Amino acid sequence: MTIHVLADQVIAQIAAGEVIERPASVIKELIENALDAGATNIHVSADSGGRNMIRISDNGHGIKAAEVELAFTRHATSKLNTADDLMHIRTLGFRGEALASIASVSRVTLVSRAEGEEVGHRLRLEGGKVLQHQSVGAPVGTVITVENLFYNTPARLKFLKAENTEKRHITALITRYAMAYPHVRFILEQDKRETFRANGTGQLSDVLLRSFGAETFKDLLEVDNADNNADEAPEIQVYGFTSAPSLNRADRSRITLFVNGRWVQDSSVTYAVIQAYHTFLMKGRYPVAVLMIDLPPEQVDVNVHPTKAEVRFQDPNAVFSAVQRAVRRAVIGQTEAPSMYDRSPRQESTWEDEARPAPRNTQLDLGMELESTGWYPNQVPEQSHYTPTRDAAGPTYLPPNPNPPERPRTLPMLRVIGQVGASYIVTEGPAGMYLIDQHAAHERILYEEFMLDYAQQKPTAQLTLSAQTIELPPTESQLIEEHQIALQSAGFKLESFGPNTFIIRSVPLLLSDHDPVELVREVLEELEEGKTPGHASIEEKIIQRVCKRAAVKAGTILSMDEMRGLIQQLERCQSPHTCPHGRPTMVHMSSDKLAREFGRK
Ligand code: ADP
Ligand code: MG
Repeated sequence: MTIHVLADQVIAQIAAGEVIERPASVIKELIENALDAGATNIHVSADSGGRNMIRISDNGHGIKAAEVELAFTRHATSKLNTADDLMHIRTLGFRGEALASIASVSRVTLVSRAEGEEVGHRLRLEGGKVLQHQSVGAPVGTVITVENLFYNTPARLKFLKAENTEKRHITALITRYAMAYPHVRFILEQDKRETFRANGTGQLSDVLLRSFGAETFKDLLEVDNADNNADEAPEIQVYGFTSAPSLNRADRSRITLFVNGRWVQDSSVTYAVIQAYHTFLMKGRYPVAVLMIDLPPEQVDVNVHPTKAEVRFQDPNAVFSAVQRAVRRAVIGQTEAPSMYDRSPRQESTWEDEARPAPRNTQLDLGMELESTGWYPNQVPEQSHYTPTRDAAGPTYLPPNPNPPERPRTLPMLRVIGQVGASYIVTEGPAGMYLIDQHAAHERILYEEFMLDYAQQKPTAQLTLSAQTIELPPTESQLIEEHQIALQSAGFKLESFGPNTFIIRSVPLLLSDHDPVELVREVLEELEEGKTPGHASIEEKIIQRVCKRAAVKAGTILSMDEMRGLIQQLERCQSPHTCPHGRPTMVHMSSDKLAREFGRK
């Protein structure tokens, strides 16, 4: 091949590849244009997750008749003149690439009327080529319709995720813009149904209430460094909301940051937020936060990445400490005598805690465990975990196993000797000593039972007696809709009941004595994390979580009978050596090793 200059259409498509990854990227660019045009009202509608149709209407200043076609030309922008202007950009767009890129991979119809002009214009383009241009009557503002997205770039089309995933991206995106622009009224309609709305009251709190739901919102603390930043870097404003330590998540994805009104992903600033919670949150738990960082445009470079989701600060340390201090002040200011052991009910119900082996400070934690479960009244004898016997009439943690299924044995017969640290079962087998993690082992047992019942189509769900409803933020209700089938396989039946509200019809049989609303919230957490690819299917992950929830916790004293029952079941598990997540259920110490350790060999 000889060297030649690519055709414009090809260049446009390559450029499009950088910024237009998915329907949500189209919406992002169009919303930014609307905001740059000073719109106070933005209506977004998308069909089939944006594949079929995306329409954005705004009441901004519109595009002048003489410039309508120019707007679709590459590098045509009204927002930048000289390279110098790049130093202090105050608009969201500046590259003049979005409209050209979008038009090159779809069919676009634009109707716009500029302020001060008598009539509007209508322009139709396909694959970047103008098909039609006419005058029309229209109100001031712009309506852009994008159809058949990626029709001419099959590779891109192929990489689109399931419709529901795209829908969720769109909702998350609009939600973020509503947070950054609380004075703008946003309405999102997906497949003709309103899925999100922000009324443009100007209050970030109103938007957060809409997007997180009241339950989460009540645990958010206000951040504002306005009064306290005189000491250092007064030009850096940090404000927004951050969670009280009782509200926390298993990953950092709920930390949302905006720099000068632009949503950014910045691992250093994210870390500053996490740092602010030092000693307030347990390891592996992260806050929920929505923070606005405003600083003079000269001090931040937004021209780092095509999607403009990354920025570079002139003085990253100043930003880091401004954020960290502002958040820390909010957390300290509104938390009384917090500590790592301050287990609010919310924290207590998180999975991470249960999975963890009994903490070194066993006595303390054991005490709390017993107290909270209420079956070991009044006093907790100090040596209780050395003599793990108790009243046979006491409530049992492990359901008896009346007729152990005749499954082949996968472990030798193990004799139970006792319990260590209220977490591990000591057993003896033909090849020495086996130390078994009671929680991990029980998880394994429940998981295999569940899968077996499921395979044999035995009931795995329990209808709830009082049909409780749960109201969720839009992104979470979309997650539920997206995973209806997986949820149902695990025993959760959720019926849509008005916008973003569900009736919980059934929960997994294994968890029939738990609070259904709490369970659904936990499973949602799993679904959110489930987005990161792993080898287990979503369905399996939900089932694993259910089993983890139902399994006996570390720190629970078991009777000899309970331990025997558990070991008997483990002996017939298909994969007795690991829990469903792959962690070991047992540590084996062979007779040989024992002998060697004692210097007998
Ligand atoms: P950029 O936003 O980087 O300037 P775009 O390709 O997104 O580039 O848009 C090109 C130009 O079209 C903008 O600079 C602006 O003048 C005009 N424009 C696009 N969308 C709108 C809109 N909704 N309202 C008013 N003007 C618009
Ligand atoms: Mg733009």
